[in-house]
Amino acid sequence: MRIPCIIANWKMFKTVQESIAFTKELKNLASNISHVHIVIAPPFTALNAVVGMTYDTKISVASQNLHWEKDGPYTGEVSARMLHEVGVKHVIVGHSERRQLFNETDDTVNKKLRTSLTNNLSPIVCIGESLKEHEAGLSLKVIDQQLRDGLANIDAIQVENLIIAYEPIWAIGTGKNATPAQAGKVHAHIRKRLFESFGKKASISCRLIYGGSVKPENIEELTMQPDVDGALVGGASLDVKSFFEIISGSLMKDTA
Ligand code: PEP
Repeated sequence: MRIPCIIANWKMFKTVQESIAFTKELKNLASNISHVHIVIAPPFTALNAVVGMTYDTKISVASQNLHWEKDGPYTGEVSARMLHEVGVKHVIVGHSERRQLFNETDDTVNKKLRTSLTNNLSPIVCIGESLKEHEAGLSLKVIDQQLRDGLANIDAIQVENLIIAYEPIWAIGTGKNATPAQAGKVHAHIRKRLFESFGKKASISCRLIYGGSVKPENIEELTMQPDVDGALVGGASLDVKSFFEIISGSLMKDTA
């Protein structure tokens, strides 16, 4: 079984107090949920508070970014060691907003990925094509390159524990989600590529989640697709009730 993973990406939203209020309510709502791996990615300022509130629950905490160097003169950056010390379990790498607005490339994604893995942080790697690439029929080509360069020098055992988020850029924050069939087709392609590069076990174990205007109304249909193992949720994760409905609506995958 692949346990579905539902991740709240809060981006640059929520103060510490707002993060605490959300987490308190989510803990109550989700106390009986055991079929979903729940992850919250608050802003850096709220990581400590949210880790402290969730250490004895099934909710994990992710940071939204990291720097690949151990330490050094990198004003404004945060290292893997610092995140690990706070108790963070996951890190989002290569989100399209970082690729588009902060010059993230497949090369820096790969550096961040390898640094996360050597510091016991489990990466959530984001890939996905732009609207222009989508309309030009280049989606799979772009994804192939992001996988090849982003996952360079990573071994099969590391891939088993990765979470890869397919996030078509044209669907992020636009209200325009990929149809379940479109998402399913790209996810199946990604799994095929993982099989070719890393073998059967890695390709079956690695969780592939979808991101792009996921909401309570479309999560069930999306996770019905055999290769869609959950979702990375932006806008709809800011409201605890809508995030909880997404968690409750996601389906498990039998990999036997
Ligand atoms: C995201 O931030 O990764 C995302 C998918 O955002 P939204 O759900 O708002 O489209």
